[in-house]
Amino acid sequence: MQVVDVEKQMVTPNRRVVLRGDSVLSVGAMSERLPDTVDVRVEGRGGYLIPGLVDHHVHLTPGMSRALTQTARGGVTMVNAMAGDNRTAGEYARAVLARELPGPEIAYASVMAGPDFFVDPRFRGASVGFAFGTAPWAQAVTSSTDVVRAVSAARGSGAEVLKLYAMIDSTLAARLIAEAHRQGMRVVAHGTVFPARPSQLVAGGVDILTHVPYLSWQGATTAKPEDAFNRANGPYEQVPADAPAIESLLQAMRTRGTFLEPTLEVFVGRPTTAPVMRAWSLAVTRRAHTIGIPILAGTDGMIGNDADALPNIHKELARLVEAGLSPAAALASATIVPARAMGRGKTHGTVAAGRVADLVLLDANPLIDISATTRIRQVFLKGQAVRTP
Ligand SMILES: [Zn+2]
Repeated sequence: MQVVDVEKQMVTPNRRVVLRGDSVLSVGAMSERLPDTVDVRVEGRGGYLIPGLVDHHVHLTPGMSRALTQTARGGVTMVNAMAGDNRTAGEYARAVLARELPGPEIAYASVMAGPDFFVDPRFRGASVGFAFGTAPWAQAVTSSTDVVRAVSAARGSGAEVLKLYAMIDSTLAARLIAEAHRQGMRVVAHGTVFPARPSQLVAGGVDILTHVPYLSWQGATTAKPEDAFNRANGPYEQVPADAPAIESLLQAMRTRGTFLEPTLEVFVGRPTTAPVMRAWSLAVTRRAHTIGIPILAGTDGMIGNDADALPNIHKELARLVEAGLSPAAALASATIVPARAMGRGKTHGTVAAGRVADLVLLDANPLIDISATTRIRQVFLKGQAVRTP
């Protein structure tokens, strides 16, 4: 088989990959000697082996066990759950680790937002049994919040990630980000959290900005807390994609090493999307990638309801190519780049000896045509094949 190197963006032909337990034992030439004992042989002839795909932005709710298995069978071997009920996310994460549920490895986030945002019914659904804004994974925060205790509670629910959602000012955002880092969490924020703008979040040290359309608020005349309810309707006409405010924001992200997670499909994939927002989102994603901002593939909607649907990561990859990324760069945005963003850059995200054996065997070369990621022959979750050949 051919092994796809997502870092060097090239294919190495005639490789034999040996797995042992949950890891890759070796990646070598076909002529190399096999180990004395081999349990399973997978015919890789003509195939292309890539690292398992990562969806960096999903939401998990009760009743999604089958969807998780279907997602894994569709090539996704790791997900980052960006807010929900962490009792649910934690149980799925445990079941996957225990191999009771064939599914992607799960990391998950706790959310914080200003108290006035807690009218969102999704927060209510994710906080059953708690007074509004007091669940450790969905906390209302203000300038008088004890940030050390709040972040400890967020961390204590098993979350690796702190997600800043809405109605947080730049001073509070910076305090929360610093405390989260001190406690070993990484921080994702909506592109604008109202009133804190993207550049203020970047200056405060945020690791990842999500939803590219929300970056448009950088150039808005005002970004009031109540605008958070209208966040997708940014000033795309008044603040074009190449406006100085946007360019200097992107340069600041590049300098700080801030990741951008555009979540294009969920915004531009809808038939109702305004053409101006669509063009704006694609153009800013392209510019961000061109100047060297690391791009993360995230769907904000892991998989559709059809029993035979593939996970939406494949649509997001196509959107990233539409925005101007090469197929190789798009593939990196769903493999090695999220592995690094998730603190797993030494164990996940590439096909190499010693790495976790999260792998997808394709029938075609994804570096030539990204739609090859949908032509799946086999998926390995920590060394175990999940599709019947
Ligand atoms: Zn989301």
